[in-house]
Amino acid sequence: MVHLSKGDFVWVESSDGVPIGAEVKLTDTGQLQLIDDEGKEHKINKKTEGTIKPMHPTSVKGVDDMIRLGDLNEAGLLRNLLVRHKEGHIYTYTGSILVAVNPYQLLPIYTTDYVHMYTDRRLGELPPHVFAIADSCFFNMRRNRKNQCCVISGESGAGKTESTKLMLQFLAAVSGQHSWIEQQILEANPILEAFGNAKTIRNDNSSRFGKYIDINFTPGGAIEGARVEQYLLEKSRVCRQAPEERNYHIFYYMLMGMQAEQKKILSLGSAAEYNYLTMGNCTSCEGRDDVTEYAHFRSALKILMFTENDSWEISKLLAAILHLGNVKFEGTIVNNLEACKVNKSSHFNMVCQLLEVAPKQLENSLTQRFFTTARDSVTKSLTSAQAVDGRDAFVKAIYGRLFIWVVDKINAAIYKKAEGSDEVQQSIGLLDIFGFENFKKNSFEQLCINYANEQLQQFFVKHVFKLEQEEYTRENIVWKHIDYQDNQHTLDVLANKPMNMLSLIDEESNFPKGTDTTMLHKMNQVHGKGGIYIPPKNNYETEFGIKHFAGEVYYDSKGFLEKNRDTLSTDLIELVKTSTNKLLKQAFQNQLTTGTVKSINPRMVITTSSSLRQTSDAKKQVPTLTGQFRKSLESLMKTLTVCQPYFIRCIKPNDFKKPMLFDRELCMRQLRYSGMMETIRIRKAGYPVRYTFDEFLGRYRVLLKTSLCDPKKESKEKCCESICKTVLAKGEDWKTGKTKIFLKDSHDTMLEVERMKE
Ligand code: ATP
Ligand code: MG
Repeated sequence: MVHLSKGDFVWVESSDGVPIGAEVKLTDTGQLQLIDDEGKEHKINKKTEGTIKPMHPTSVKGVDDMIRLGDLNEAGLLRNLLVRHKEGHIYTYTGSILVAVNPYQLLPIYTTDYVHMYTDRRLGELPPHVFAIADSCFFNMRRNRKNQCCVISGESGAGKTESTKLMLQFLAAVSGQHSWIEQQILEANPILEAFGNAKTIRNDNSSRFGKYIDINFTPGGAIEGARVEQYLLEKSRVCRQAPEERNYHIFYYMLMGMQAEQKKILSLGSAAEYNYLTMGNCTSCEGRDDVTEYAHFRSALKILMFTENDSWEISKLLAAILHLGNVKFEGTIVNNLEACKVNKSSHFNMVCQLLEVAPKQLENSLTQRFFTTARDSVTKSLTSAQAVDGRDAFVKAIYGRLFIWVVDKINAAIYKKAEGSDEVQQSIGLLDIFGFENFKKNSFEQLCINYANEQLQQFFVKHVFKLEQEEYTRENIVWKHIDYQDNQHTLDVLANKPMNMLSLIDEESNFPKGTDTTMLHKMNQVHGKGGIYIPPKNNYETEFGIKHFAGEVYYDSKGFLEKNRDTLSTDLIELVKTSTNKLLKQAFQNQLTTGTVKSINPRMVITTSSSLRQTSDAKKQVPTLTGQFRKSLESLMKTLTVCQPYFIRCIKPNDFKKPMLFDRELCMRQLRYSGMMETIRIRKAGYPVRYTFDEFLGRYRVLLKTSLCDPKKESKEKCCESICKTVLAKGEDWKTGKTKIFLKDSHDTMLEVERMKE
């Protein structure tokens, strides 16, 4: 039994299984009373006495580096974030890893004063801050002449995009040129967000694509340029939104902000008039002023060198999309077969005018499919439902291509390749990618997103746990192995082993007779017993599950192949070829020149010719969505691997977008699956900073007291040790390996601070 007196803090049991902090108080009658962190009273009696545990002093007020926590368990971690969050301290370190809890309110900690305060200070000198991470990236890039990257992770609404913007803001400021290029890089964001972000139930400004921004610096440390890589925009949102969600911001911006006469030319009305904008029954977003945002978007376009004409052409395509969504089809019977025709309307006419295509051509490509088999050319009428699907596929393709065109155009403005110069550019990359997703209904998109998250988690695990411990062994550092959750096996089943899930999906996609069901059968056969893949309960179910590092997710296999094939009918490609709209043709340039995009609704393929997918392009396989995504992810991983990585783990404190509300269970879940507990353990026990003896001496020779250790007589190893002994206090835990010196994050800071004084 713990002895309790007023003002003490203890741990008590909580219904969610993780002990909660409680304070000992006195009632009016002078009785001892336990009030927990959430204001609930806990009884002190015979039954509970044994479960009350003393709290370590570090857990009472919290610490700014989790490594210093005395109660190194889940309860300690959670309470540390909680008490800090309560006091408005949203940032906490785990060594050099930053944990950021979304404050859901504007904090006065991102001003120029703060930028100055955090400039050129070592990590840990000042309270934890995202600026400190940015500064550390910048400093290490220049000190170690090595490219840096910062992987920002967390679930939807956790604050990844805001953190990315803050990092950029800081880097632009310390780069210090107030140059045009800095401004251009900063202003690329509003454009990307207009096209790629939307209001969802989880986040009013949810990024529906992944991005990696690589910022290049001159050897002098000034920003020289940047490059944006985008990943897998959620195209389905252009045609469909879940309840209370919106389409991409840009549509609402345009309808609210565009001048009346321009709207008139495009025949545009208000958002409520368009099918594509009203699926979620929500056309406005609280706290977002679409008029102001449109103005900002327009000025950003100018800064990024989009001409007035570019901007107008973009509006034309967006308007065409909205009008297309209002085009209706009417079912008919032709030669005893179901067919359909377009209901002629002003919308249909506007589409023709905006896409610059002939009405007859547009109607035919929307209502029929034309194809050649080995012997014949065949025209097949579409049912009205098929026509709607085809129209939506067209719209998704236009929007998807437009997005890529916009990103390319941004890169054309901001990417400056160092030409003809011997000086190596240095860079800092910021990765803001969609977080792990687990909805009530999950589909192909979620599988791709969660696959990306498995990759990133593996990158984290590799960096923080695997390579780290391997190096200790190699360098003969005495070390007690720390266990961690390795997701390599899941990744193997998903994407690495022969016959992995993604390749099975691809194989079925490229197989003309493949259907979602045959794909599911194959997955059951190959992976049914492996323990990672969870087969459907019976033959009628279409849902399969995967045990991800962040939890089990069930995916509905319906529609997988069609989404993965991501093809547009040849008829629509042919239609684009006939168009005189330059932007439309530019956006589709790849498809028009390579001719690899072809065919068709797979069901029709089966009924006509089994070799149809190969007719016009016999050997070349159509690149599937997973195929492309895998390739771009692999290339991202390669880039990350050669950088010195930083990690920011964003945490969403509640599901209501509310300030000052900390949902323990929600936070616990995020801490658990991000492996935070093990991370703290390894960072506490380990030596994340290491230098070869040469590197170390090269940098800190000024700190060597030659009276204690004469570099002429002693080995490099001895000199390094001597520096550590003088600078780092006695009893500090650093190690000498075979070729390197091993330090804690805090030692690196101490050494740098001392070096500055010299
Ligand atoms: P998604 O995966 O959906 O894109 P995300 O992790 O990128 O989510 P953000 O868009 O960065 O999430 O953050 C969601 C919202 O939370 C922001 O629009 C903002 O209102 C708030 N927010 C996040 N970080 C901060 C911060 N540091 N200060 C103030 N508000 C913040
Ligand atoms: Mg985001």
